[in-house]
Amino acid sequence: MTDTPAIENLKQALRRLPGVGPKSAQRMALHLLERDRDGAKQIAQALLYAIEHVSYCRRCNNFSETELCQLCGSSKRDRSLLCVVESPADFSSLEQTGAYSGLYFVLMGRLSPLDGIGPEELHLDRLEALLDESQIKEVILATNSTVEGEATAHYIGELVHARGILATRIAHGVPVGGELEYLDRNTVARAFSGRQEA
Ligand code: ZN
Repeated sequence: MTDTPAIENLKQALRRLPGVGPKSAQRMALHLLERDRDGAKQIAQALLYAIEHVSYCRRCNNFSETELCQLCGSSKRDRSLLCVVESPADFSSLEQTGAYSGLYFVLMGRLSPLDGIGPEELHLDRLEALLDESQIKEVILATNSTVEGEATAHYIGELVHARGILATRIAHGVPVGGELEYLDRNTVARAFSGRQEA
């Protein structure tokens, strides 16, 4: 028996998730329909809600449900420090170390000319505006140590230098090709405290 059009459609939709191939998609679709229709509704509603309510903070570009995210609005953060990360996952890794008390800018990607991702796609104009208007004294380049992450750090470093602001790069204790997201807390904290002038 072949799947009904609705099941086929569901499987195709699930395959959009990272790391989900045809077999996993089939297993998930059948599991939800056979055993957990309440769970399936919960997933559908949570997805719709998140899509409608989660946008980007106008200052740091991280996900936020308000115009200005909680962190950017906090009076407890050091406004002279700005840390540039590639993704909300990297942001979380750094925040979990508790080693950093400044502000962030979340690129939501990295420069990748082959994939058509240039300075405009990364909203670097907004980062520049932030550098121009605020009292930032140090910009910590915490992009990953992949080829693209290094190129991104270099490009942003130039923008920072051009404004006479100190640019630092997190230490190379981060393994080559290492994504912050997958490192343990101590390694991230060490990379951070060992940062050097870029
Ligand atoms: Zn923010």
